[in-house]
Amino acid sequence: MTRILHRQIHAKLPTARGGQGVHLFDTDGRSYIDASGGAAVSCLGHGHPDVTAALHAQADRLAYAHTSFFTNEPAEALAERLIASAPEGISHAYFVSGGSEAIEAALKMARQYFVETGQAGRRNIIARRQSYHGNTLGALATGGNEMRRTQFRPLLIETHHIDPCFAYRFQEAGETDERYAARAAQALEDKVRELGPETVMAFVAEPVVGATAGAVPSVADYFQRIRAICDRYGIILVLDEVMCGMGRTGTLHASAQDGIAPDLMTIAKGLGGGYQPIGAVLLSQRIFDAFANGSGLFQHGHTYICHPMACAAALAVQEVIARDNLLANVKTMGAHLSRRLGERFGNHPHVGDIRGRGLFMGVELVEDRSTKAPFEAELKLHARVKREAMARGLLVYPGGGTIDGVHGDHVLIAPPFIIDAATVDTVVERLGEAIDAATAA
Ligand code: PLP
Repeated sequence: MTRILHRQIHAKLPTARGGQGVHLFDTDGRSYIDASGGAAVSCLGHGHPDVTAALHAQADRLAYAHTSFFTNEPAEALAERLIASAPEGISHAYFVSGGSEAIEAALKMARQYFVETGQAGRRNIIARRQSYHGNTLGALATGGNEMRRTQFRPLLIETHHIDPCFAYRFQEAGETDERYAARAAQALEDKVRELGPETVMAFVAEPVVGATAGAVPSVADYFQRIRAICDRYGIILVLDEVMCGMGRTGTLHASAQDGIAPDLMTIAKGLGGGYQPIGAVLLSQRIFDAFANGSGLFQHGHTYICHPMACAAALAVQEVIARDNLLANVKTMGAHLSRRLGERFGNHPHVGDIRGRGLFMGVELVEDRSTKAPFEAELKLHARVKREAMARGLLVYPGGGTIDGVHGDHVLIAPPFIIDAATVDTVVERLGEAIDAATAA
């Protein structure tokens, strides 16, 4: 009997014992291809010797020093590295322990920026339906995942949501990408005008929507329009790259492919590749200057910010990715995965959409391909696919739920950047069997 409060209390989970490369092993001797890196975390795979060596060395040197007394070497080196490759205008990094903490810190940075610059009336956060920004209360309020929010709604700060840019579900028949991008972005401008621009603090969005929708990129031009609207009304653009960032889509930052730079960017998962819990906010010079020239303080903090072990792990992960040119493999293997998914599921009666970028792909499951009608929510089809896949030694990340009346089941495929073509083929083969079995049942 477990003494851990697991999320799914009655689920009987295998016990993970080891991991090597793209494989995980349990205590019953079963082996799994980790085709989702957990939840798009394990970008380098498991047991990478360079990362474990860096961790050992850091543990021997310094495990912890509180940031009210010291800065530390791995945190400074990691910040240097991240800023050297950051989008235009980004000048500083703030290190926390994961994605939700990064979102909380970003929201507070946005708010403090307006207080410091004499615009204290700006307090409204706008985000998108079908988004996930984390489970702490501010992050949960920001995200649009109703299933996770419902029972906690009385505790959540007021936020405002617009429709996402989600072509498979919301682009109208015959509507060009250009017109759809304009229509989807217009929803932000309409909301800003409705609330009053002088009250709006931040717009928060995932460049490629992960957990809630299953690797959904926007159509061309959408984010350029979003950036222009934020500039027009003086709103801080927060891009949440916790899941889609740090190389997962083939470029270091997913938003580079949309041709925009944010004011604040949150990163986590692939930053430390699962070797340590770490997340970060990357902030622009403009926001840093407001703090530095104003109160001289960022009114926030946690015990484990800039944790030396976490920063050392992330530094090692990022050095290996750059040294081994793994983003080139993300592009090549991403194209191979996309092709193989298309071959296997292009005509599948229960696969409505295959989408994504790089090694961040989603497969949407539908009852009826021609009408896009989803499966009954009660069937929890995504969970069935996960079970069937695990029984075949494959880990894929399931998602589903009803959001504004639109139910969806999807699986997310986000393997380590080191995956090879033969393993991609096995992933698609096993996933095909799992989807066939789950949809036949
Ligand atoms: N933002 C996005 C886009 C995420 O996908 C997640 C987690 O899945 C979070 C934030 C929250 O991150 P964490 O679970 O590390 O708190």
